[in-house]
Amino acid sequence: MGKDVYAIGIIGFGGMGSYHLELAKGIDEVRFIGSYDIKESRQQYAREKGLKVYDSREAILADESIDIILVATPNHVHKEIAIDAMRAGKHVVCEKPITLSSADLQEMIDVSEKTGKLLVVHQNRRWDEDFLTMKKIYDEGLLGEVFAIESRVHGSRGIPGDWRQEKEYGGGMVLDWGVHILDQALLMVNEKVKKVYATLTHVTNQLVDDGFRVVLTFESGLNYLLEVGTSNFISLPRWYMLGNNGTAVLQNWGDDARVVKAVGKSETDIVPVRTAAGLTKTMAPRREDTITEEIIPAVPGNIKEFYRNVAACLNGEAEIIVKLPQVMRVMRLMEAIFESAEKQQVVDFE
Ligand code: NAD
Repeated sequence: MGKDVYAIGIIGFGGMGSYHLELAKGIDEVRFIGSYDIKESRQQYAREKGLKVYDSREAILADESIDIILVATPNHVHKEIAIDAMRAGKHVVCEKPITLSSADLQEMIDVSEKTGKLLVVHQNRRWDEDFLTMKKIYDEGLLGEVFAIESRVHGSRGIPGDWRQEKEYGGGMVLDWGVHILDQALLMVNEKVKKVYATLTHVTNQLVDDGFRVVLTFESGLNYLLEVGTSNFISLPRWYMLGNNGTAVLQNWGDDARVVKAVGKSETDIVPVRTAAGLTKTMAPRREDTITEEIIPAVPGNIKEFYRNVAACLNGEAEIIVKLPQVMRVMRLMEAIFESAEKQQVVDFE
């Protein structure tokens, strides 16, 4: 039996827990009613926000008026809280990364199947404009056959100074940001990933990776570089995509993309570039009448779709957008990244 409004209780009312409260404004299908956090200061903040505050995990899970539990704690306790919640009869929305390994994820999936409760991950960056814009360029074949994609996220403040710095809490940038941009990569390129090669950085932190570079080789040979950096004082563009007939670049979140394509005119009169010590025709700039340049406006994304989809799915009106087999594939890919980095070798994947 469906419902018009689903009541949500939050476990872990930190930065992200309170963001979800903001996010829910204007979504008629869900209402956040309560929360539990192990820190008294966050319990107090939840009271100030008008939430019902519970004294324990057991107490929030025992409240029959709650339909869905949002798990927004540090990563290492997602699994046990999600499993407890499903066993207590709640559906679960879990923050990313869903957990720390594919074996743990399989346990969570088993409980979801056994209890019949929904388990879904908040892969919110599927709704980011930059991703949707580059996906449109890829899907519409605007560049011809795409042979390389580069997806980068750069900052310069090192890894955040909280639980993200420690392995036991599920810290590190592969789990933190990798999970988003890998999910995007697998949604964009609908092919098997054959090979994975990764290196991790430890510039500001020795305990966990504070950045990484990964190259995925897809079945067609498409080469997909993903990079997260936290010691990058100059950022490279968020996206760069190469096709056999053109190139696209998108500088920063929310920007429009710039596409330059060949128009098929031959160039017989290339003027070589002369440098201090040499001369090159290969790398000489194009004559303007042999290329076109267009701006692809940022494709809007609406993250409110996430909770609307959860409610529609519970009412039997829609398929869930963030599917567990997709989440498992990303989890296995993150494991392959750690394996490749540790062995300093290319790892076979699918
Ligand atoms: P945070 O440290 O700000 O908040 C975590 C909260 O959980 C804290 O208030 C802490 O006291 C509480 N907590 C810890 N253990 C608990 C337990 N056993 N039971 C109840 N409460 C507990 O961290 P954050 O930045 O809000 O991150 C929380 C989760 O959200 C992480 O999984 C993170 O990866 C994810 N996150 C997702 C996004 C996104 O864009 N999807 C962005 C940021 C964080």
